[in-house]
Amino acid sequence: MLDAIASARTILTRLHEVMASRSAAQAKLNTVVDVIGGGLDSEVCSIYLLREGMLELFATKGLSQDAVHVTRMSIGEGLVGTIAGNVETLNLAEATAHPDFSYRPETGEDKYHSFAGVPIVHRERAVGVLCVQHADPRRYADVEIEALQTVAMVLSELISSAGLVDEEEAWGLTAAQSGPAQMHGLALVKGLASGVAVFHQPRVTIEHTVAEDTEAERQRVYLAFDRMREQIDKMAAQAEFGGGGEHDEVLETYKMFAYDEGWKRRINDAIDSGLTAEAAIERVQQHTRMRMRQIDDPLLADRMHDLEDMANRLMRTVSGQLGTAASKGLRQDAILIARNLGPAELLEYDKRRLKGVILEEGSLTAHVVIVARAMGVPVLGRVQGLRGVVREGDELLLDADMAMATVRPTPALEEAFNARFARSREKQAAWAALRDVEPRTKDGVRVTVMMNAGLRDDMPMLGMTGADGIGLFRTEFQFLVSATLPARERQTRLYRDVLESAGDKPVVFRTVDIGGDKALPYLRHDEDGDEENPAMGWRALRVALEREGLLKAQARALLEAAGGRTLNVMFPMVSEPWEFDAAKAVFDAQLKWLKGQRKMLPQEIRYGAMLEVPALAEMLDVLAPKISFLSIGTNDLTQFLFAADRANPKLAERYDWVSPSILRFIARVLKNVEGKGVDVAVCGEMGGRRLEALALIGVGVRRLSITPASVGPIKELLTKVDTREITEAMQGWLANPPASMRAELVAWAAQRGIDCD
Ligand code: PEP
Ligand code: MG
Repeated sequence: MLDAIASARTILTRLHEVMASRSAAQAKLNTVVDVIGGGLDSEVCSIYLLREGMLELFATKGLSQDAVHVTRMSIGEGLVGTIAGNVETLNLAEATAHPDFSYRPETGEDKYHSFAGVPIVHRERAVGVLCVQHADPRRYADVEIEALQTVAMVLSELISSAGLVDEEEAWGLTAAQSGPAQMHGLALVKGLASGVAVFHQPRVTIEHTVAEDTEAERQRVYLAFDRMREQIDKMAAQAEFGGGGEHDEVLETYKMFAYDEGWKRRINDAIDSGLTAEAAIERVQQHTRMRMRQIDDPLLADRMHDLEDMANRLMRTVSGQLGTAASKGLRQDAILIARNLGPAELLEYDKRRLKGVILEEGSLTAHVVIVARAMGVPVLGRVQGLRGVVREGDELLLDADMAMATVRPTPALEEAFNARFARSREKQAAWAALRDVEPRTKDGVRVTVMMNAGLRDDMPMLGMTGADGIGLFRTEFQFLVSATLPARERQTRLYRDVLESAGDKPVVFRTVDIGGDKALPYLRHDEDGDEENPAMGWRALRVALEREGLLKAQARALLEAAGGRTLNVMFPMVSEPWEFDAAKAVFDAQLKWLKGQRKMLPQEIRYGAMLEVPALAEMLDVLAPKISFLSIGTNDLTQFLFAADRANPKLAERYDWVSPSILRFIARVLKNVEGKGVDVAVCGEMGGRRLEALALIGVGVRRLSITPASVGPIKELLTKVDTREITEAMQGWLANPPASMRAELVAWAAQRGIDCD
């Protein structure tokens, strides 16, 4: 039997010379079939390439030369068409016995029995076929097939650098990835957008396939494996901060692949056959892809995505192309594709070009989704198999209102989408027209509708939406977008700018809420070991009170920025009243110091707390006298009430905000502070959704702080709601909970012609 590795290597060395030669593309191909045929000891060696949608015989050793550029097959036709169509290898002892065999007399192939063919793959598509034939009826050995596959890989470089591949065509072969496809998911941020697909972690393009120095290539791969293992271990250690939102299960799988010696060995073998490190990784990946295609198991397909991720990571490490798509910059309107993202990663993208996001994971209250909502970027989440269907550069129509996206749309689909887009813009315009209208219910109750913000860039939305103020300014966003801890002066500048652009409208600054899924690489607490439950761990006020310097600097920045104005300060994740006292004491001390310095002080300071830890609800009698306002953070509150991690995609749809437990809880909080001079608002994502807002009005909530895009829709909703009616209905449901509160509310709204979508 032939020593496949050695012969592949000899062939590769010869191919390298051919590629480097100055001869014309056709002459090169003619030499190539001779080299491969000779190297593999094969009677026939032929290359078919895709031209104008057909696979055309471009060069052959052994078949009739008259057939060159004459014999053509369509995709799926004959053995060659089948190989290209399915991107699969065929290894047949008797070619004519295969059901797809199609006889081409002009080739003179009658005397040959055995046949082996492999696809020539470019950008994951077959752009041609390389095949060998023998008179002797025998199946080829696995090692021979592998040698063929390795050679096909190098051929793909040759034919693409020789301009023999039509890039457009190269994109359009595999049925699953060529025609239009619709993907369904969970609407995380509603809205419509169109643009080209951009992968957050771009694929590496392989520049060279043939190695000049095999040992050097081997060392590169070994080094990359070491680095990748380090990265994965680090990610696993940081999982308590939920860095990129990767979850334990995924990390476990990543780890399994990263430490898979079999994978490493296969790559090593491919390097032995003469490939560069990048080509070897891709070669092994192609092989795995081909094998996986034959297995129809969704679980395995998922694992395949994980392996693709890892191979991509390894490839990026080897080639040094480590940046995300953000670092390369977006060149046109883009829809970002990722498994998951962290909020800071999203913020790195150019807001003008980033039109939408599609994630394989994601949940409604994950911070990346909150950031996207604040940026006005629609997000579709929980799209299974996303990265198997969409390719970099594909046209995408994202319709998060319908919880779906269309890739490679036909003109008819595009037309329908554009019509919906236009209608949605009309709706937006109608909401925008409510800008100067005071939010009042049908029965004249004034509801305070404020907006949530976190960055300077969010401020223009205050004027555009006509919101009553900023009910939640997430100061940690400035920390998230910085590479280092923002200096006090920078904080002061931001707060001052925010207050200035808000004018007479109030702004509630929440002190930093770091931790959970808002990780700061420069602020770790390694010395305390890893956290099992980061959302319930070292985060928000707990961090701020321990790192007193952090809170001190922020207190000073806020107090100075609000000189001569009213300062509203709110503390996140207060679990017991003493934490509020401790945080306020930091402000008091700073205030005293500023007084001593004769600096301009705020005219008034109003303190408040977030109510997001259920325990605090039991202590409101103690807390209420100390505070001016309370803001119910339903994002965290729900995760703690239901013991359901807000960032866990598996739980994204499990519990409903419109549930008796949450609504009863909120009603009780309102009752407990009634008449105590405490303003109570809801500032979680729940308040920005129409049906949920209706439920909140029903339990007595009269202050909302919501995402800017929801201000118009909520104002419009209010005009249709009679508070007396919804209060009565809600009291009935809460006293006697129906099987589905949501269904009751939907029916109730529909009867009154209230659109709650
Ligand atoms: C909340 O928990 O509801 C909230 C508004 O805060 P964040 O989403 O920033 O945790
Ligand atoms: Mg919170």
